[in-house]
Amino acid sequence: MSIAPLVDSRPVAAAPSPPAAGALPLPVVGADLSVPLVTGEQVGYVNLDYAASAPCLRSVLDAVGALLPWYSSVHRGAGFASTVTTELYAAARQAVGDFVGARADDTVVFTRNTTDALNLLAAALPEDTTVVTFASEHHANQLPWRRGRSVVLPVPASADEAIARADDALRGAPSRHRLLAVTGASNVTGELWPLSELAAVAHRRGARLSVDAAQLAPHRAIEMAAIGADYLALSGHKLYAPFGGGVLVGRGDWLDAARPYLAGGGAVRRVTLDGVEWASGAPRHEAGTPNVVGAVSLAAACGALAEVGMSAVAAHEAGLLDRVTRGLGAVPGVERLEMWGPASPRIGVVTFQVRGFHPGVVAAALSAEHGIGVRDGSFCAHPLMSALAGGRAPEARSPEAPADAALPGAVRVSFGVGTSRADIDRFLGAISDLVARGPRARYRLDAGRYVPEPDPRPRPALAGLLAGGTGGAVHGLLASHLAPCQSPA
Ligand code: PLP
Repeated sequence: MSIAPLVDSRPVAAAPSPPAAGALPLPVVGADLSVPLVTGEQVGYVNLDYAASAPCLRSVLDAVGALLPWYSSVHRGAGFASTVTTELYAAARQAVGDFVGARADDTVVFTRNTTDALNLLAAALPEDTTVVTFASEHHANQLPWRRGRSVVLPVPASADEAIARADDALRGAPSRHRLLAVTGASNVTGELWPLSELAAVAHRRGARLSVDAAQLAPHRAIEMAAIGADYLALSGHKLYAPFGGGVLVGRGDWLDAARPYLAGGGAVRRVTLDGVEWASGAPRHEAGTPNVVGAVSLAAACGALAEVGMSAVAAHEAGLLDRVTRGLGAVPGVERLEMWGPASPRIGVVTFQVRGFHPGVVAAALSAEHGIGVRDGSFCAHPLMSALAGGRAPEARSPEAPADAALPGAVRVSFGVGTSRADIDRFLGAISDLVARGPRARYRLDAGRYVPEPDPRPRPALAGLLAGGTGGAVHGLLASHLAPCQSPA
C-alpha cells in the first residue's frame, strides 16, 4: 500500500510528485551538488557511497513535505491533524510490510535502523535460544547475538558451503530454540546470500531465519513469505529515506512474549501504582513518541521503488555493475575482494585494494582531486575483512585499526537508483588517473582518516540555516568548528 493516496485524499494536502516510473536513474536530492577540489575548482559531486547511506529520493522528500503541514501527535491527539498523522503512521506500517512481502500476521515494528531492529530481536529471543551466524556478517548482525548463546561459523567459501555449514550447526545446536541470522547481501562484497535455501535448512532443523536486509532491500524485491524469512531488518537511510526510520518485520509470538524493548507510554494497556499491563504487537516495542517522519518517508521510498519496479532497479544496477567491473579490471594493480568468485550474483557494491596504495589515500584523493565520494576502511565487518584480505597488501592496513593490529582496509564503491553511467565513467577515469600518476596532493592521517594537507576546500554555508533564535548557539558552534577549514593553511 502506498501512503500517497491517503495524503492526496485530503483536499488541502499537496500531492507528492510520483517517481519517474520506468525512468532510471531516479531523481535524488543532491544530484546537482557541486563540490570543491583541492585545486580550487568546483565539480559536480559523484556519490558512490550508497551502501553507507543512500541519497534521499526526490519523491520521498516531496512526501515528507506533504506530511509536515499535517504533522501532529500520533495515537492520542483528538485534532484532525492528529487523526491524519495517526492514519499515515498506520498506513506506513502496512506499506513497509507489503514492500518486503510480509505475512498478514507479521508484526512490523518501527525502529531507528537495522542495528536497532536486530538488537530488538536479540532482546526478544526466548530463553534457551542458540543463534547461528557467520563471521562474514556486519557487526550489527554479530554483536547483538553475543549477549546470549551464539555460534559463529567461518566465512564460507561458497553459497553451498554456507547452506551446509548452517545445516550442521543448527542440527547440533543443543537448545530449545534456534535462530539462523544472515545477511541478504554482503555490505563488503555485495554478494547475495541463498535465502530460500537457508530458510529451508533452518525450518527443517526447527529453527527460524532472520535476514539483515540493510543492503538487500534497496536493490532487490523481497518476498519474506515466499522466501520463508521469519524476521527481516532494514534501514530507511539506505533505502533513500534518511529520516531516522528503520524496521523489524516478523513473527509476533516471540515479540509478544518478550519484555518491551523500551518501557514507557504507548507500550502499555493499563498502568497502576504497582503493576503494568503491556500492549502486544508493534506498540509493545515502540514506547515513546514514534518517528512518524521516519516511518512515512520509509513507506514513501518503498512506494516509489515498487512503482518503478524492483526488477527495473536490479536491471539498471546490473548494467552499472558490469561497467564498474570491466573498467576496474583494466586498471593495473586493482584487486577486488569477494567471497565466492566473480560469477556469484551481487548488488551494486564493489570493494577493492590497489597494490601500492593505501585505501585511505585512494578514497581521500578521489574526493579531494575528483569530487567523488566512496568509502574506505573495514566496513564494520572486521572478521570478514581479515578473512578476505588479512594476508595481502600490508600497506593497506585500515586506519580504523589500533596501531598494533593488522586489520586490512579497502575502498568500496556502491551505487543505486540515482546513479548514472556518467557517474561510473567519472569514477573509472579518476581511478585510472590516480593509479597511473599517483595522488597530486599530499595526505596526512587525522583522527584515523586521510585528509589533504593543506585542505583549502571551503565548506558550504550550511551553518547559516541554524542562525537566529535558540539555533544561534548551534550556529556559533558550527561556525567555530568550520572556521579553521575555510582558509587555506
Ligand atoms: N547490516 C548491514 C549489511 C549493513 O551494511 C549495515 C550498515 O552499513 C548495517 C547492518 C547497520 O545498519 P544501520 O547502521 O543503519 O543500523
